[in-house]
Amino acid sequence: MNVILVGPPGAGKGTQAAVLEEKTKLKHVASGDLFRQHMLNETPLGLQARSFVSRGELVPDDIVIGMILDRVFQPDCSRGVIFDGFPRTQEQAQALAHALQLHHKTLDAVVFLSAPRDTLLKRIVGRQTCRTCQTPYNLYYNPSREEGMCDLCNGTLYTRPDDNLETARHRLDVYMAQTMPLIEHYRSLGLLHEVDGLGDVHEVTARVVQQLGLASTEAEEHCLTQP
Ligand SMILES: [Zn+2]
Repeated sequence: MNVILVGPPGAGKGTQAAVLEEKTKLKHVASGDLFRQHMLNETPLGLQARSFVSRGELVPDDIVIGMILDRVFQPDCSRGVIFDGFPRTQEQAQALAHALQLHHKTLDAVVFLSAPRDTLLKRIVGRQTCRTCQTPYNLYYNPSREEGMCDLCNGTLYTRPDDNLETARHRLDVYMAQTMPLIEHYRSLGLLHEVDGLGDVHEVTARVVQQLGLASTEAEEHCLTQP
């Protein structure tokens, strides 16, 4: 089973992908991580990508898709993949569909994690991280006991400069403009599952697992221990 996870900044996409990887047999493939790995290891694709990045240009789709496919056809991905951060455009979506088809694989579902705009803004703007131990907090949803101080190590909490309200609004607008056509594309193919991204991380995961009819590894283990 191959699944694409999409969602605006603040929807908890990265967190969900990581939890889903733990709970199911699907492998989390994050395009951003792949990118960094290829550039760091100076692979042929990484070197090509770097030449565009260093000129301040967008990396062309065929390089991005090359990295994704290189990862997807490795043995640990044989049970399926959760795509995170890819595709971002309809061109990338078409290229992915074509490549999967060539390799006799299918795209089975697209999960759109949604949340109200004001919640997304609070999740982004409220984000704080401990300078010392990197523990994440949120001013609105998960505040530290003492303002500005880490509960675990008393370190100072900081907010990333681009997590301000104006930038957050802009990021959401850009995301929606770029991604809504993609979401509509998948809706028209009957692949779209819209999942409410509000609430506790594990509640949201449970909704995704249920929507996709995925057996979580835990449930399967439980079944196996039943007489
Ligand atoms: Zn800390």
